[in-house]
Amino acid sequence: HFITVDGIDGVGKTTQIQGLQRLLREFELDFITTRDPGSSEIGQRLRALLLESELTMHRRTEAMLFMASRCEMVESTIRPTLASGTSVISDRFLLANVVYQSVGDAQAGVSSELLWQIGDLANGGLRPDLTLLLDMPAERALRRIGRPTDRMESRGADYMESVRQAFLAELPRSSPVTAVIDADRPPEEVQAAIRAAVEDYFSG
Ligand code: C5P
Ligand code: MG
Repeated sequence: HFITVDGIDGVGKTTQIQGLQRLLREFELDFITTRDPGSSEIGQRLRALLLESELTMHRRTEAMLFMASRCEMVESTIRPTLASGTSVISDRFLLANVVYQSVGDAQAGVSSELLWQIGDLANGGLRPDLTLLLDMPAERALRRIGRPTDRMESRGADYMESVRQAFLAELPRSSPVTAVIDADRPPEEVQAAIRAAVEDYFSG
């Protein structure tokens, strides 16, 4: 099983992924967790370049570096792991790339359609089996973050709300099974909703 978790910054993705890990352990499933961008030596370096550096870059450059990072993560880790029968949880995946890099700057001309196609090329066609989207209003999510911790989180509430809407619009294309999880409530309730979605997926 290949399960991805995504959503705008500040929705509580990290906490909920820990809950998902406990859930899969309870189901006695062997799994690993990856993080996009990251999860390979090249991925880590690209992550630092993309998120921690002060370098300015063209939106298409940014989009392609996220793609390259994921290509490496898929081929070095995710595909071999799935082939050995072990499941994979990924903290973000192609959906985030499509959404974050298509929103905003129309001049840069990166359409979501094109990004899905480039993404399939980068991933060698690999898509998740289940995509969980943690959703809440951008303004609330940004308030939860407080001070921005990376370049993306500094782009402001309008950008983030557009990203949120793009997540909701593009989600159905991410995988055969998808679920929108209302993340604007206490963590235990969010976790219960994730459990329900995962159980649905396993029984379906
Ligand atoms: O998951 P995390 O919030 O640490 O990711 C950092 C940033 O990287 C996100 O805010 C997002 O802007 C960007 N990202 C992306 N495409 C991905 C993964 C992350 O644009 N596939
Ligand atoms: Mg973040």
